[in-house]
Amino acid sequence: MGLREQFTGWKPGLWAGWRPNGLGEQKPNHYRDIARVAWANRAHPAYAYQVLTKGACDGCALGVAGLHDWTIDGVHLCTTRLDLLELNTADAVDPLVLSDVAALGSRTGAQLRALGRLAHPMRRRRGATGFRRVSWDEALSVLAAGLRATTPDRAALYLTSRGITNETYYVAAKASRALGIANIDSAARVCHAPSTVGLRQTVGVAATTCSFQDVIEAPLVVLWGSNPANNQPVFMKYLYLARRQGCRVVVVNPFLEPGLARYWVPSNVESALFGTKMCDLHVPVRPGGDVALANAALGRLIARGAVDRAFIDAHTEGFAEVAAALAGQDTDHLLGLAGVDRPTLESFVDELVRAGGAIHVWSMGVTQHRGAAETVRGIVNLALAQGGVGRNGVGLMPIRGHSGVQGGAEMGAYATALPGGLPVDADHAAALSATWGFPVPGRPGLTAPEMVEAAGRGEIDVLWMSGGNFLDVMPDSRAVEAALGRVPLRVHQDVVVTRQMLVEGDDVVLLPVATRYEQEGGGTETTTERRIVFSPEIPRQVGEARSEWRLFADVANRVRPELRAAFSWPDNAALRREIAEVVPLYAGIETLAATGDAVQWGGRHLAAHGAFPTPSGRGRFTPLEPVEPHVPDGSFVLSTRRGKQFNSMVQGQVDPLTGAGRDAVFMDATDASALGVAPGDRVRLRSETGSLDATVTLARLPARTLQVHWPEGNVLIAAGSNHREPTSKVPDYNAVVTVEPLDSTPPD
Ligand code: SF4
Repeated sequence: MGLREQFTGWKPGLWAGWRPNGLGEQKPNHYRDIARVAWANRAHPAYAYQVLTKGACDGCALGVAGLHDWTIDGVHLCTTRLDLLELNTADAVDPLVLSDVAALGSRTGAQLRALGRLAHPMRRRRGATGFRRVSWDEALSVLAAGLRATTPDRAALYLTSRGITNETYYVAAKASRALGIANIDSAARVCHAPSTVGLRQTVGVAATTCSFQDVIEAPLVVLWGSNPANNQPVFMKYLYLARRQGCRVVVVNPFLEPGLARYWVPSNVESALFGTKMCDLHVPVRPGGDVALANAALGRLIARGAVDRAFIDAHTEGFAEVAAALAGQDTDHLLGLAGVDRPTLESFVDELVRAGGAIHVWSMGVTQHRGAAETVRGIVNLALAQGGVGRNGVGLMPIRGHSGVQGGAEMGAYATALPGGLPVDADHAAALSATWGFPVPGRPGLTAPEMVEAAGRGEIDVLWMSGGNFLDVMPDSRAVEAALGRVPLRVHQDVVVTRQMLVEGDDVVLLPVATRYEQEGGGTETTTERRIVFSPEIPRQVGEARSEWRLFADVANRVRPELRAAFSWPDNAALRREIAEVVPLYAGIETLAATGDAVQWGGRHLAAHGAFPTPSGRGRFTPLEPVEPHVPDGSFVLSTRRGKQFNSMVQGQVDPLTGAGRDAVFMDATDASALGVAPGDRVRLRSETGSLDATVTLARLPARTLQVHWPEGNVLIAAGSNHREPTSKVPDYNAVVTVEPLDSTPPD
């Protein structure tokens, strides 16, 4: 049921300007990008066309099947998806290229991807100059022998998103538990783990409570630490359609991202011609100041008598405690912590009051902080106070940037969740043991950052990774490289060559796998709005690549042949039938068989009409105490940001939205002036972990805050338990740094 994009007249009040298609503005040129991608995929245009018109997008988690989604009638396509297309049409890399690792060592991730598809099992022993081609039997025998030779607590399994399907996550989760391995984690850990924790404790669900249809019907959308213009581009089309119907938009972020100030929706004539103003109010919160801001806003809502008392009384608990806590927090002090002035706070509260509820969207700007779970609870407090859950046009939306992360956790490929997103404890493990027919570990395993640290201590014997690139993704890149090198057996299964594969170890095995589209029997993903969508098999064989759900089952069978019956699906339709039985939430997945087939678990709204699936049946307010920031004199708070990239995969050296190169450090003009540096000057940033040379780029930012691109900035980010959110274990991708003009700085 899509929103028919009827033309109902121009809305000049929303136009960004009069220049056709923003001529001369710093912005993406979508039409030129389409031509570039068409050229890049010229070797297999027919296959590329099939992927685009039949497949479910392997990019972000907005979700689209072919060129159409379940929200709007028009075309749903973006350059992120187009840029990923090349991975799906690339030809096999020559195995000889991998025989000399030293020759590859200086290549960037993008240059390694450009080599082509990993197409044959390969193996490299310590001391060898590179990889040699081996048989599948040898590669899997090495892995099985390694798993048999160690104890489960010294083995770890990690899966990225990279288009991985629910079917693959499920088999990986089952295989891992069959081998006794609790240490299984996935990409969801480093993005929305705090959202999972914060939402489950307050509203009883670990997912978006509303649907994209609600965005289009929303009176107000508040974007907290989220930049969908860059990461979920078609969301901007939803916002455009919403704004045509009167929706207002507030951006809560240190930087007003240019793509959120104004945007040109390429598939809509009016927006493509004149652009669309996308932001009504920018709230320039300091990094880490969101809890203080949420508290201040809630305090003002209460003071103005603008909370939904009927909803609060009927459907929530803890409001009185929160109100009492806020009464003891001085608004001006909170604003000082948030870095926001009083008029801006009042404007924000005006927007909330006028709308009577909002869709609160948040992303990595909220979650990749030490206080992330608290911030999520602060956002939930605001939503509950307005009765903003479980009805049309309002809701809580931790928007996802990877098409696999929602499903990965819900299939149990997660250190802290069993299939169905159930907590890992003795009771749930016992129930699952009875279902699966083998003992399931009843304790949480190592999370992804803990795996790296355990490897660094020499406590991991087998590290088995499906995609991912710890070297780029995890904090403190140098420590990660040393940790990877200490693992006696590393197995990397992937579609392309990545930098982490080149780190020498005692024994490193590469396994070539099929893409989402090549996967035998097709597969499903779960979108941000909880929609399980089917992507059919689009047959293509590259070298000896195998479907991953078969691969995980094969390894389980080799290590524990007595469990063969539990890992012997004739096809993955049978696998989907098993998922539907084991994960009742996913009922209906067994019916999906063609492009466009989808089923949304939980329906349009979770906690509909105030029925919260918490133990008490009520949504829970949480009293929150903002943390006082400590930034030593002369230092800056540095945050990491995204440019032209898909997660850690850099897709362009210049961000078309900001015009900044990858080595940019975003800095406010007042800070630049105080430091005596100007745009284009080179500076050295130093943290307790490392240093990074960068080029000054001016941006309107709160004083003494800086931003650099991620993952390049990871050299500045500290690892360890003091540098992550304590409950969800997401790394804090922020640092305290000093800045030195480079021409006066001796080289390190
Ligand atoms: S917005 Fe996301 S789901 Fe939609 S086409 Fe782009 S990457 Fe794919």
